[in-house]
Amino acid sequence: MAEQFINCTIRNGKAASFWFDSWTPFGQLLKFLGSSGPRDLNLALQAKVSDAANAAGWRLPSPRSENALKLHIHLTTRQLPLPHLEEDSYHWIVDSIDCSGFSSLQTWEFLRPRSRKKRWTSSVWYKGAVPRHAFNMWLATQNRLPTKVRLAAWGLNVQQTCGFCNQFLETREHLFLVCDYSASLWSRIFARLQPHHQLFLTWGELLSWTRQASAPAPAPAPAPAPAPPTLWILVTQVTIYNIWRQRNSALHLNGFTNTEVTFKTIDREVRNTISARRHKKTFSSLMSLWIR
Ligand SMILES: [Zn+2]
Repeated sequence: MAEQFINCTIRNGKAASFWFDSWTPFGQLLKFLGSSGPRDLNLALQAKVSDAANAAGWRLPSPRSENALKLHIHLTTRQLPLPHLEEDSYHWIVDSIDCSGFSSLQTWEFLRPRSRKKRWTSSVWYKGAVPRHAFNMWLATQNRLPTKVRLAAWGLNVQQTCGFCNQFLETREHLFLVCDYSASLWSRIFARLQPHHQLFLTWGELLSWTRQASAPAPAPAPAPAPAPPTLWILVTQVTIYNIWRQRNSALHLNGFTNTEVTFKTIDREVRNTISARRHKKTFSSLMSLWIR
């Protein structure tokens, strides 16, 4: 794997291996010319680059293959390796950039497997995100939070009804969006940010809401200033986090607070997050949009 990164700069040609080092644009010449290369060029496997030239020029027989011809043509453009020149030097090159020595960071960035960026990424990770909110949102978006329906699917013997209303199955959509408890929180949020918005029914609707830059104000309401996406994402993450916290409290502790108290908590967390980041450009104008 390292072979592709190590490049040799030829000076006197005494250190560089003709066949094994990468010193032309063709990489390792043994691979480029094949196993018959050493015989065709009359150069032993142990040959150094300096063995292929003298003061008069490159000492190679006429090319017998397409690739050998390419090599010949390339070599005519190269400085000859001559004994009075300095030592050959080796370089770690990643994506055509000389790293001035080995760079594990550049190399890993180049080698690491990448999956395609998900469309929802910007609704989860954003500049200034509160890690616990973003992490919870990440789990929720991939439907990996252990809702009761998921626990039951894993074979756990649990009662699957929603801990808030005790009527419907505790799926992600029900728990965070549709349940009267959560719907009432979203209504309060819409009252602040986007009056008359319809409640969410699916996670996709929630995600597109966080992505919109602003929404047209329905007449005849006075047009509110468009809220930048950061506020929508922040409020969404704080809300999802607090719904999940109340749900866990209902399941494991002493019940949950009513929506009025929970909304106050959400409100406070949004304000605290904004004020802690008020020096950041994307947060500076958010407070007035949230508390208006
Ligand atoms: Zn419910």
